[in-house]
Parts: sequence; structure tokens; C-alpha cells
Amino acid sequence: MASHVLDFSTYYNIIDNKLTSTAITRHGINPANAQPNPEVPISTQADLDQAVEAAQKAFKIWSKTSFEERRAALHAYADAIEANAEKLAQILTMEQGKPLTQSSAEVGMAPGWIRGLSALEIPRNVIEETEEKTIIQRYTPIGVAAAIVPWNFPVLLAIGKIVSAVYTGNTVIVKPSPFTPYCGLKLVELATHSFPPGVVQCLSGDDTLGPMITEHPGIDKISFTGSILTGKRVMASCAKTLKRVTLELGGNDPAIICEDVDIDAVIPKVGILSYLCSAQICMMIKRLYVHEKIYDEFMEKLVAFVKTLKVGDGTGADIFFGPVQNKMQYEKAKELFGSITTENLKAALGGTIEDSTGYFIHPTIIDNPPEDSRVVHEEPFAPILPVLKWSDEEDVIDRANALETGLGSSVWCSDLDRASRIADQLQSGVVWVNSHFQVAPNAPFGGHKQSGMGVEWGLSGLLAYCNSQTQWLNKSP
Ligand code: NAD
Repeated sequence: MASHVLDFSTYYNIIDNKLTSTAITRHGINPANAQPNPEVPISTQADLDQAVEAAQKAFKIWSKTSFEERRAALHAYADAIEANAEKLAQILTMEQGKPLTQSSAEVGMAPGWIRGLSALEIPRNVIEETEEKTIIQRYTPIGVAAAIVPWNFPVLLAIGKIVSAVYTGNTVIVKPSPFTPYCGLKLVELATHSFPPGVVQCLSGDDTLGPMITEHPGIDKISFTGSILTGKRVMASCAKTLKRVTLELGGNDPAIICEDVDIDAVIPKVGILSYLCSAQICMMIKRLYVHEKIYDEFMEKLVAFVKTLKVGDGTGADIFFGPVQNKMQYEKAKELFGSITTENLKAALGGTIEDSTGYFIHPTIIDNPPEDSRVVHEEPFAPILPVLKWSDEEDVIDRANALETGLGSSVWCSDLDRASRIADQLQSGVVWVNSHFQVAPNAPFGGHKQSGMGVEWGLSGLLAYCNSQTQWLNKSP
């Protein structure tokens, strides 16, 4: 196990299980203090070509290994991540800004995802069995996959893609976000101890690398998580070579609070699930619809609860709100906060962004804004939460479903029949009753409408890394 403990001071690409660097390098920024993080490679077309060649070569052998062999390698990988979990969590806070408790939780989920996904059985379906013939449907690996990862959940999202790809017999090239390359590079450096050369590789780069990957004719499958705008570009690029593509995109999740809830029990849950990671999670509560009968009390208690959550450098004890991840996001948030004044909205908490060295934003709650205000129909990816009143069930369902996004949604209600009736009418890839943002390796997640194409995780997520093959086995020639 000792050999798997990594040095976290220098960062390399991982190509064919070798640590390589590039002539030109760059660095991310620690969002808590705007200081530069260590240098990382800027991969070129030649680096990508080399990685693709290694991945294609490795695929020939890896695709023929058994599920048991792959599972054993994945379990060793999970152990190696556990041995490095504390340091990985510190690096995650350094690069992403989220508080250490949340970084530790994200890193801590990774081994469970590895073991959980690799526990699923890929089926071999007998469709018809007669005296003359057998028809079966089986699943085969696609080839070389590329995992394009965003900056908000860089560990868990990378791990979900790596595991799904290699467990199903593919090889994979990981591309972390230029904003958060550090954990991605180290996760793949660790993978060199568990997988043969070329099976799991990682390239860090600037904004040119993503398009190079989606254009590359030697890559067969793209799993992309990121914004809707970029997702459309990825799909257009993949169309040229008809790459398989899975898109996990932005969301603007509604939560519907019914009048029969236990307000005191629900407030801390809803407060946390609206603001984790400074609200930079795709499946956070981003529109909170509260029944008018309890609206005033709910609002008062929500404001009181959110006020108790501390803002500061994520390395500090009991911090809940770290900085937002990057300057671009900070400036976007400032611009959106401007709409509080221009659209004449009422802030029940916060409402302004003070200048600071790091990218800190104090939580803001907007009191019953119009449905067409920007804070309601745009995905803020910053700690600003619109709380809206409702009275009629059909009307609130229509409002919840009104947007082009459909990632997650939730219903909070003591009457479970009523909750299910509402849940059944919500247009999103995941619906929770009395919770939000619950995830598990064996449960698929993905978006409806413009929140994505296909799903990841669960058996359906694994099958997205496979080709379907139907075999007709006729018994007499
Ligand atoms: P982004 O779209 O800017 O970038 C995502 C990744 O794509 C990065 O690695 C980036 O370098 C790369 N990229 C950028 N342009 C590219 C191109 N033309 N071709 C290929 N790759 C390219 O997204 P972001 O700002 O990093 O992440 C935030 C967004 O991601 C939010 O909208 C959020 O809701 C969404 N998100 C969705 C999920 C989900 O599972 N549905 C999960 C997390 C985040």
C-alpha cells in the first residue's frame, strides 16, 4: 500500500502509465485567496494522438478481460484512493474552494462508486430459445472513451466515468476542467498502479483540448458533463464521426413544499440542499416553491437557518460556504445579483456581493420574485435562491415544468399519495420525495429536455458505454 501514496507537489499527464509533462504549462487559481496553484501540462494534439494510440492498443487486450478481472483491478483502485483520501480532499478544497467537510465527503464517495458500479451485472439476454435457434442480446465495449469533466464535482464525476468505461471493457482518457485539473491528474496517476498501460489516461490542457478530443477520429465515445451551451457544441462535434455521446448538462431544479410538512424538520434539509458547494451543483434546489399557507413562517425560519451557515476559506473549521470556484463564475454572479436592483426584487437575506480577495459570496434569498425574473429562469450556480409562493397544485406543477431544463425536482409532503401524484407529473430525470440530490452508484441519473442525453450510473449508465449486439445462433448450418 505504501507505494500507492502519492506526492502531491507536482502534476503530470498520464499517458500509457507514464508521467509526462509538456513544453508549456499553466496553473489553476485557489479561489479562496486568488493565489496560483501548481503548474499543470497544456496538452497538444501530439499528446492526444499518443494517448489515443495507447488507448487503442490497450483496448485490444482490456476488452477481452473478464468482468472478474476488471472488478479486481477496480477494487485495488478503490483501496488506493482510500489510502490517499485525506490528501485528495485537501487538494480538492485548494482547487475547487468547497469546504474540507464537503471535499472529504466527495472523495469519500469515490470508493463506494467504484465498488457499487462494478457490482452490477451486465446482462446477456436470451430473447428466444427454440429447437432451431437461439437469439441473444449481449453488450460489447465501444472502444476508446473520453471523459470530459466540469469543475464543480471533479472527483466523483471523473470516477463515475472512469469506472463505467473500464468495467465495461473500454479504455478511457480523462480530461479535467482547466479550472480544477489537480485531483483528476492524481486520481489517474493512482490508477497506474491498478490498470495496465493505456487503460486509464489523463490529459490536462487549456480550452483547446476539449474540442480536439471531440473531433478525434480515434475516440469512440464521449461522456460529457458541463453546461448546456458546451453540451450542444460537443454533440455537434461528435456528429461528424458519429461518436457515441452521453451529455449531463445544467439544471434549474424546482422543489415544491406542501403545506402539511413539519417546517422545523424540513428547513435545515432544504437550506443545505439549496446551498451545498455554494450552490454550484447541477442538481441543487434552485427554485423553491412554498405553499402560501406556510410561506411566511417558512421564509422566516429559512432565513434564520441560512444565517447560521458560515462563509469563509474552506480550510477553516465549520465553514459551510467556501468561495465560488473561479473569477468568471464570480463575475457572472455579480451580474446576476445586479438584477435584484434592475428587476426590483426583494432580498429576504443578503442581496449584495462585497469585494474580497477570494471569490466569496454571502447567501442570498429572494422573496417571491416574479416567475419571469432572471433568478428564477436562469441557472445561477451561485448562492442566490428564489423562494416563490404557490396555492394551486396544477399551477405549481406547470411552473415547475415550465423551463427547458429537467434535471432534478422534489416534492416535500407528509401525504405520500399526494407527493407521488405530484412527483409523477414532474418532467425531470430524477424526482425525490422529501429529499433532493440523493445519489447512488446503482441508481441512474440524467436529464430530461435540455438537461442532457442519456444517463450515467446504474445499469443503464453502464450500458451507455456498450454496443448492443444481437446474435442469431442457428443450430443447423
Ligand atoms: P463547461 O461546459 O464550461 O465545461 C465542462 C467541461 O467541458 C470542461 O472540462 C471544459 O474544459 C470542457 N469544454 C469546454 N468547451 C468544450 C468544447 N467546445 N468541447 C469539449 N469540451 C469542452 O461547464 P462547467 O462550467 O465546467 O460546469 C458547470 C456546468 O455543468 C453547469 O451548467 C452545471 O449545471 C453543469 N453540470 C451538470 C452536471 C450533470 O450531471 N448534469 C453535473 C455537474 C455540472
